[in-house]
Amino acid sequence: MNNKPVIVSGIQPTGNLHLGNYLGAVKNWVDLQNSGKYRMYIFIADLHSLAGNMPAEQRRKQIIETTAELLAAGIDPKKTTLFVQSQVKEHTELGWIFNCVTPIAELERMTQYKDKSQQQEKNINAGLFTYPVLQAADILLYRGNVVPVGQDQVQHVELTRDIARWFNNRYGVFFQETKHLLTDVPKVMSLLEPDKKMSKSLGAGHVIELADTPEVIEQKLKKAVTATSGGEQAPGVKNLLLLLQKFGNQKIYQGFIKAEKDGSIRYGDLKLATGKAIGEYFSDFRKRRAKLLSNPNQLKKILTAGAKKAGLVAKKTMKDARKKVGIS
Ligand code: AMP
Repeated sequence: MNNKPVIVSGIQPTGNLHLGNYLGAVKNWVDLQNSGKYRMYIFIADLHSLAGNMPAEQRRKQIIETTAELLAAGIDPKKTTLFVQSQVKEHTELGWIFNCVTPIAELERMTQYKDKSQQQEKNINAGLFTYPVLQAADILLYRGNVVPVGQDQVQHVELTRDIARWFNNRYGVFFQETKHLLTDVPKVMSLLEPDKKMSKSLGAGHVIELADTPEVIEQKLKKAVTATSGGEQAPGVKNLLLLLQKFGNQKIYQGFIKAEKDGSIRYGDLKLATGKAIGEYFSDFRKRRAKLLSNPNQLKKILTAGAKKAGLVAKKTMKDARKKVGIS
């Protein structure tokens, strides 16, 4: 059992899960977990979220909500070590060691840093800049082989590979290669600006949350941007068709594909069908989420047990890493 490949991935507690998180990462995590082929570590990246603008109280609350949502989506703490990043202190320690082998110029290339700096131009802090270094520590602490993420994170996983190499070149071979793993939907687009990825930071109207009621989903989809003129498949239409394909009945989906080809498609109908499909698909999720949130102490217990389990592995890696760099 112990030589199964290790999977590590995380999610920031910055808001409710949305369809981008789900199709780009979380659904894949659940499938990989249930395949039984991997040792799985999934963490709530609360330290990463400190680089954003979220108030402390909201963070505290959101950590619990994200936990409930991951469990409601199918993460099983018996099969996956689910924990909060800050509860395993070794993340920051290894992160610091990695900071000291990572050239600044390499971090300046990170497109997510550039994007986030634009989004929060009044708070371009050093954490935002070194975020991918901490992420490398998150992964390598558990000797992660495979990192299932959305498209936006691929560059960071590539950097993790580089950081392992820089560390090994300087201190002797210790960390192994890490690969990213994309789903078949690595990028879900925003409803209102379908040329951008669906993201919580764009605003509520841009995303469909897994917890949204069917009424809210319908309202959001009504405002979704489709095509301004006929012809080429517009990104907004493509995005809605993708969501319908993933969550709806395949016959209905094929009907819309045909209608799109012969020009008879009505976007209002497409929005209604897509909304209905999503609302139904997550109906059980919403019930499980509400039930889990009614018992936050139980959620805290799951997280404490997860951190304890993760901590054992993290401590072992750090013990060896400290020796390698000459601080123990
Ligand atoms: P974050 O919310 O940034 O912590 O992202 C959690 C996971 O969801 C990461 O693996 C991201 O790559 C993935 N993700 C976030 N937004 C999208 C999107 N619009 N499409 C696909 N994957 C996404």
